Amino acid sequence: MAGILKTAKHILGARAFLKACALCLCVITPGYAAVAGGYLLVPEAVLDVDKGELKKGYGVLVTDGEITAVAPVAELINQSKGTKRIALDGLTLMPGLIDAHSHILLHPYNETSWTDQVMKETWAERTLRAGQHLEATLKAGFTALRDLGSEGAGTMDVGIRKSLDKGVIGGPRLIVAGRAIVATGSYGPKGFDPSHQIYLGAEEADGPDLVRIVRSQIGAGADIVKFYADYRWGPNGEARPTFSLAEMKQIVETAASSGRPVVAHASTDEGMRRAAFAGVQSIEHGDNGSVETFKFMAKRGVIFCPTLAAGDAISQYHGWDKSSEPEPARITQKRETMKRALNAGVTICNGSDVGVFSHGDNARELDLLVNYGMSRAGAIKAATITGAALMGKAGTLGEIKPGYLADMIAVDGNPLEDLSALRRIGFVMLDGQIKVSADLLAD
Ligand SMILES: [Zn+2]
Repeated sequence: MAGILKTAKHILGARAFLKACALCLCVITPGYAAVAGGYLLVPEAVLDVDKGELKKGYGVLVTDGEITAVAPVAELINQSKGTKRIALDGLTLMPGLIDAHSHILLHPYNETSWTDQVMKETWAERTLRAGQHLEATLKAGFTALRDLGSEGAGTMDVGIRKSLDKGVIGGPRLIVAGRAIVATGSYGPKGFDPSHQIYLGAEEADGPDLVRIVRSQIGAGADIVKFYADYRWGPNGEARPTFSLAEMKQIVETAASSGRPVVAHASTDEGMRRAAFAGVQSIEHGDNGSVETFKFMAKRGVIFCPTLAAGDAISQYHGWDKSSEPEPARITQKRETMKRALNAGVTICNGSDVGVFSHGDNARELDLLVNYGMSRAGAIKAATITGAALMGKAGTLGEIKPGYLADMIAVDGNPLEDLSALRRIGFVMLDGQIKVSADLLAD
């Protein structure tokens, strides 16, 4: 089989081979070590995501998990002695994509409702599914995830991150939030007689006890702390703020002391305002953010993570036929929100809330960022440079530059002109190791 594929690849060329064999290309190799001496990657072009331009005829040298040189291929000949040359004919090399809002322990709600996943699925099943989700994510060219809450699966996310670090399973870089923190009485699953003990989708805490809970989550392995600044607990089930500003400040101060950032779920303007004032790193969802709040976030350097794909998916689960029906109010409102955010100049990241929809379909968020008003270059920057900052790796991840970590993908086409190129992944390198490539399959 491998011989046949190799022959086919030589006859067709790498680009045509990729098109012909898009589904069978991907080989995940958790333990595949980088070759001694490193690699010289020779793509059609290298994408500079900061400037939003292609560098044609450039090559990239990789040694020990690090990018060591980026220059016209001819200039790299001397330095590349002893390296393995990887020809990426017809492909564009770019930084690995980053999804800054994932839930690897969830799977699409149209398969199983969130409540049933939290209440009926065993942690074993959820963890095994997460392994599959991580594999699909890496195959899709996403080399890093910021996972924002185990949603009722305890600290399984911490165990998964440790398993990745040890090479027990394959998958992208991962930072995790553990259980996440909610105000008592606000979060689900709810609607049960109070005599039942329900294990919630996040951990309850209030007042001074927040200090202890933040510390205990950090002790349990959380890389970041997430809290819900509001939730659907209003008299009519509408979203209303939960924690007071003083409580939010306590969470941020306690986490900051340990060197960890805090992220806030918030969809009300007041919840967002309090969270931004308290000093969170990013605000997730932000559906009802006002211009003033977005301007305040921009001034304070708080990043906005609109999670457009979640609303898009949920609206369709509720019956919206996107191909023929007008947009529901929720989607129209979100478009307005994005306009306000873009006008206010707040930094927007790429975070999809994947788990609500299929893992591996993460590029859906980039499509929507552009559809809702961002430029293609802007969306790509959000999914690389901004994502790297949220991973705690500003200046070392998210660009193809000497000294940066070697997380790179090669795509078929120019994503600055056609975002669908991001769905044609021909090569994935993570930490200097080749994880997906046509060559691996053919060799
Ligand atoms: Zn989420």
